Amino acid sequence: KVRVRFAPSPTGGLHLGGVRTALFNYLFAKKHNGTFVLRVEDTDQTRFVEGAEEYIVSCLEWCGMAPDESPQKGGEFGPYRQSERKATYKQYADQLIADGYAYYAFDTPEELDAKRKEIPNFTYGLATREGMRNSLTLSEGEVAELLANNTPHVVRIKMPKDELVSFTDLIRGHVSFDTNLVDDKVLLKADGMPTYHLAVVADDKAMEISHIFRGEEWLPSAPIHILLWRYLGWEDIMPQWVHLPLILKPDGNGKLSKRDGDRLGFPVYAQNWTDPKTGDVTKGFKELGFMPEAFVNLLAMLGWNDGTDQELFSLAELIEKFSVERISKAGAKFDFEKAKWYNHEWIKNADAEKLLPTVKAAFAEQSIEIKDDAALLNVINLVKDRCNLLGDFVAQGAYFFVAPVEYDLAAVKPKWTAEKAAFFDAYTSMITDNATAAELEEKFKELAGTHQFKPGELMLPLRIMLVGGKFGPGIFDIAVALGAAETVQRIKNAVT
Ligand code: GLU
Repeated sequence: KVRVRFAPSPTGGLHLGGVRTALFNYLFAKKHNGTFVLRVEDTDQTRFVEGAEEYIVSCLEWCGMAPDESPQKGGEFGPYRQSERKATYKQYADQLIADGYAYYAFDTPEELDAKRKEIPNFTYGLATREGMRNSLTLSEGEVAELLANNTPHVVRIKMPKDELVSFTDLIRGHVSFDTNLVDDKVLLKADGMPTYHLAVVADDKAMEISHIFRGEEWLPSAPIHILLWRYLGWEDIMPQWVHLPLILKPDGNGKLSKRDGDRLGFPVYAQNWTDPKTGDVTKGFKELGFMPEAFVNLLAMLGWNDGTDQELFSLAELIEKFSVERISKAGAKFDFEKAKWYNHEWIKNADAEKLLPTVKAAFAEQSIEIKDDAALLNVINLVKDRCNLLGDFVAQGAYFFVAPVEYDLAAVKPKWTAEKAAFFDAYTSMITDNATAAELEEKFKELAGTHQFKPGELMLPLRIMLVGGKFGPGIFDIAVALGAAETVQRIKNAVT
């Protein structure tokens, strides 16, 4: 039975890499009729950020990938916040100590600092643990006394000497780590809280997780986790490992970070994230005007493809086509221009009805009140293939509702003549409400002939009169959308 988990730490906004991990978990779960679990890894109290969990939940919802089990929804395997599962971890730490796989370490922060000063790149482990105060170096009596006196201590894993921890990663294939190079990570902290390493293993076991999809940055932690699965006697039920490729900067040079977004002017979060301490807002894809469908689509393509040239996938199609075999090992470059292309395609192909509420809100924000939804639907259909972001509808469509106050006069003025004015004067009488765009165009061309103009010479002036600038869809479509009275009025305003 497939059970996967997305296990973010509530330390801030949800970065592209994080949402992509959530998506691949979700796709795999849904593809295999499995369960998608949201588990909040909040054991590090010093990094806990107020509001981050709610933010994560709301991002998942916006993307359309609500978890099946979560702190909010509950489920058979709860609680789903690690801070609420504290009792279970200590028992495993005790078991590991009893079995000789972990040990108490009593070194004070000052002692550790001194070591770090003395030994460059100090790590606590095989090469250094002899010189420290722990239950491997102290006598049994000393340890018992320290514990009896409640001396602050942590529990560390005891990395074995000269072993190779090997495993199969479903993306990377055979992977192995030399235990001599892995340090004795803390499992239980002085405050009795587990570290990520102990909690993640205990919870993946308790929640019967079948596959662990997570970012490649966790690969170096895998040997620790695998040893814990083994030492706790669970190796035969260990989940499968799937370490997802990194998301790289646009130029491929290193991992994408929030700073790259700030510097290059694109969002790196799913939704706006407001830092509760500073009030700083980091831009999100949602607020920038991305459709969730486009966002999910572009995320999926960061490290996955279906083996063909197809680039546009709905969530349902992604579920159907997703396969771990087609996830690449190589890091995926994030290109914001390409991201906008996805959104453009999704907007272009979307039903106007679906876009209506967001577009209407965008107009309202610019104080343009839309009274007639049918008119807005028509406008959406006329301009949607010109928009990359949902907010672009305002720039592309405002003139349908508000007559231009400024005209791109440079586009027409040098060639403006009294004869042209006479033509437009005559044309206004031909514009009727029941005329189609094709009929308006035909009359326009006919009349141009009578006035000895090429229609092309008059088209741009008409556009400037109705739109204000040199842009927009077919000019006679615009005239029909505006209605006869408004079209005539705009021509008169411009000519006189
Ligand atoms: N809490 C870890 C994180 O913030 C989860 C890593 C994992 O999935 O094992 O990414």
